[in-house]
Amino acid sequence: MESARGNGGRKPILKRLSARIDKYDYKLDLDNMTLTLKLHSDYEVRLRLIASRERVEKFRGWSNYELVVKYEDGEFWVSIYFKRAVRPLEPRMVMTIDLNFGNVTLAIYTLDGRRVRLKKLKTPHKKILTHKICIEKIQKKYPKSWRFIKGVRKAIERHGKRIKNISWDYTHKLGDLIAELALRYHSVVVLEALEKLRENNKKSREFNKRLGLWFYRRIQFCVEYEAMERDLEVVKINPKGTSSKCPRCGGRLVEDGYRVLRCRKCGFIGDRDVTATINIYKKYISKHSRCGVSGVAPNAPKPDENPSGMQGNKNEAMTRELNPSRTGYPNLPEF
Ligand SMILES: [Zn+2]
Repeated sequence: MESARGNGGRKPILKRLSARIDKYDYKLDLDNMTLTLKLHSDYEVRLRLIASRERVEKFRGWSNYELVVKYEDGEFWVSIYFKRAVRPLEPRMVMTIDLNFGNVTLAIYTLDGRRVRLKKLKTPHKKILTHKICIEKIQKKYPKSWRFIKGVRKAIERHGKRIKNISWDYTHKLGDLIAELALRYHSVVVLEALEKLRENNKKSREFNKRLGLWFYRRIQFCVEYEAMERDLEVVKINPKGTSSKCPRCGGRLVEDGYRVLRCRKCGFIGDRDVTATINIYKKYISKHSRCGVSGVAPNAPKPDENPSGMQGNKNEAMTRELNPSRTGYPNLPEF
């Protein structure tokens, strides 16, 4: 229907065939890793789950609410959907995240404004851009025909696939890493709301020009998903002013060298991304603080020192070490 509508009523083009299966028409057996589909008149088909045992175990106790069978690129796929309610923990700390194309900066603050952790991670935006530029070059070379020449189209598709793989791979790992860290510190995870990125916002201009917002959205999706899966609260704040307002006096910040901002009014100088994490923190606290503490001392904390008050806390969350090699993640480059 959608395809026909978009076609102006002409013959619909079906790109993807998919069907939802009613819960009475299948049986999911996680113990034996099988899925039995009841087809027509006593005809059943039994499928073996190809997801890893470890992955399947994660969904035990969740409710399985839907099954979708898809036909895509000559293959049949069955997707099993699970859900469960998230019961967010009472946050003891606040993790704020500033997303840029070149890097992701995250900081963890105590509820009274001390920074206990600071981390900058590189994004693979250069790799993605390289593939994007390849696609554009090919399209420029065959401006009218690239869609119709099989070899050309295939070459473009190959670059597109690489972009897709690089970005999903990265965002999954990043989401996992960030959520593990947030869990360790019992943090609420605070992000900037994407919908509110305005045209006049410098950041959004930079994004649109270079990649579009999809990469940013994907990072946010994965961070949110992984955090919620660990019963962590995720909050989105309005990004207005987070990279232009002085966190100390509220004055306007001006650029003062490469990714450094300075306040003309009070003399505050700070790294652009770190300053954004302070502003995001302040916005969160002013809206969500239950005890009314606010403010952050922009120069006080040393990055990466151990949080006080966390010792002796033999909580399960604390014992879950963040170990990139165990989870099979290549180390996300830090700088
Ligand atoms: Zn200032």
